[in-house]
Amino acid sequence: MSVDSYTNLSAIAIHGGAGTILRANLTDEKERDIRAKLTESLEAGNVVLEAGGSAVDAVQAAVVVMEESPLFNAGKGAVYTHDGSHEQDACLMDGATRNVGAVAAVKRVRNPILLARLVLDQSTHVLLSGEGAETFATTNGMELVDDQSYFDTEFRYQQLQKAIAREKKENKQHTQLDHSDVEDKIGTVGAVAVDRHGNLAAATSTGGMTNKRHGRIGDTPVVGAGTFADNKTCAVSSTGVGEYIMRAMLAYDIAALMEYKNLTLEEAGHIAVMEKFTELGGDGGVIAIDALGNIAMPFNSSGMYRGWMRADGTSEVKIFKE
Ligand code: ASP
Repeated sequence: MSVDSYTNLSAIAIHGGAGTILRANLTDEKERDIRAKLTESLEAGNVVLEAGGSAVDAVQAAVVVMEESPLFNAGKGAVYTHDGSHEQDACLMDGATRNVGAVAAVKRVRNPILLARLVLDQSTHVLLSGEGAETFATTNGMELVDDQSYFDTEFRYQQLQKAIAREKKENKQHTQLDHSDVEDKIGTVGAVAVDRHGNLAAATSTGGMTNKRHGRIGDTPVVGAGTFADNKTCAVSSTGVGEYIMRAMLAYDIAALMEYKNLTLEEAGHIAVMEKFTELGGDGGVIAIDALGNIAMPFNSSGMYRGWMRADGTSEVKIFKE
């Protein structure tokens, strides 16, 4: 297909996490704030696409907006580990080259997706973790936050206290999706896009799960689980309980169903999420896009913060199952 035949087909889709998101539990004000931030994120990505920029730059721009907001479990609003710390994961994949940059368990990186980008552009490695990732950041000129207090928020702290109390009561280890708490149902962030050249990209960033153990790494930075992009098939960003997403190899499963079974994005997304992932016991969903700009957003939880925008300005933001 020529470059021109892709013009106007550029599109972006985002998510802000999936989980127990019920209308009854969300105040009008909170819903308004979340919708506004999701729209701002879509616009940030769309500006890049409209200007002829790459899908990689677009998904990065969209994710940065959500990382900067305390409303989402990524960057500023990252959840707490069991020890009261913050350890974040992020991944950015370029579907044109299948090059990837990912970081895991980083503690002092304000925008983990920007460090993932640095890994993609500057490192021969795909995934860097912990202190090594932070050393890589400073070596390449990225400033770290002085201490973790930048990520501290009262409501996330209260979520941790509740999770710890529940763990004690049930006498068994308990982690939870940030949005499984009825009061603060907001989560991990991700974006997928196709640019006017037909190139795909996917980005995901997360604080992980409340009360997770030190060193726990979720699906987000695991290529093929939380994040995947390949121009031949699709770009996918997952959200939900990472332990299940990794076992399902969820993002890649959609691409594989398309590639080997010749299914459409919609069909592949349905089988991977609503059938296979669900049968495994997983809770969550994905956003996915293909090179023609088709978008699918299957999830099996009660809600998923999500939205899409096309270069022609059409867009939609949704929260609940409807
Ligand atoms: N998938 C993330 C993790 O397990 C959590 C989420 O999507 O809310 O780290």
